[in-house]
Amino acid sequence: QAVYFNGRWIAPEEANISAFDRGFLFGDGVYEVIPAFNRRLFGAGAHLDRLTRSLDQIDIQDPLTRAQWMDVLVRLVSECGADDVSIYIQVTRGATAKRDHAYPNPPLPPTVLASASAIVPLSAEIFTKGAKAITVPDLRWGRCDIKSVNLLPNIMARQQAVAAGAVEAIMVREGIALEGAASNLFAVIDDELLTAPLGPHILGGVTRNRLVDMVKDQGQIPLLEVPIPFDRLFDATEVFMTSSTRDLLPITRINAHPVGTGKVGPIWTKLSKAFTKLKQQRET
Ligand code: PLP
Repeated sequence: QAVYFNGRWIAPEEANISAFDRGFLFGDGVYEVIPAFNRRLFGAGAHLDRLTRSLDQIDIQDPLTRAQWMDVLVRLVSECGADDVSIYIQVTRGATAKRDHAYPNPPLPPTVLASASAIVPLSAEIFTKGAKAITVPDLRWGRCDIKSVNLLPNIMARQQAVAAGAVEAIMVREGIALEGAASNLFAVIDDELLTAPLGPHILGGVTRNRLVDMVKDQGQIPLLEVPIPFDRLFDATEVFMTSSTRDLLPITRINAHPVGTGKVGPIWTKLSKAFTKLKQQRET
């Protein structure tokens, strides 16, 4: 299947970047991951808004218009062949032989890649029994709201989780449980659903934002966007983590402790069903 690379559609093995690309040298770039379910894009508008914002925050001009991006996404989904698809977009500040931290002036043409792959579903057991998460110190920088390609702390945290038989690592900064290595965090404490407020220490997840809007619209479960103290996490009756390719992932064990009863809970069950319904409405 062809990939979109710097304005052309080419075979994946032909998509080669310069060794002087600033993405390679400095990690000077941003990315986005956009899902499609049953071959229809889901949340593409919100993902492209976030891409534009990430680019804007690091002064790279968005290389494509919204209509051009949508054409790229639609073509990637239709050519991928899978029903459920994950689209990866990366934009870097381009290539120059002169290695200098400051941005090149005039700006270089950005390097642009967009490709698609099938979403590999997690085992069904995870959604009936729940999964384990571990907590790790948050080693990331102070602008986690930018979807930067610099992911070493996230990679190390996720690897620690996998080594511990867990599916995700919960990042803890100054006593606050913030989000996962590649997901946002929700906890039910004293019958209220809590998630970290938007700000520089988390990525504003499209799934998180959708879910927050859905819960507020429904008006049945009190939802608070407030910091979750690390020690309060262990008082939670339910915990789940959200992301575009994993939806609402129930966490029934954190480190050595069961969450609540150690089984998936009623609030997760309800919200997860409602979210699936939202997805089936197939709006983008
Ligand atoms: N937080 C981080 C650090 C992430 O990398 C991701 C997604 O990869 C998320 C949260 C979830 O974001 P979304 O729901 O937009 O996939």
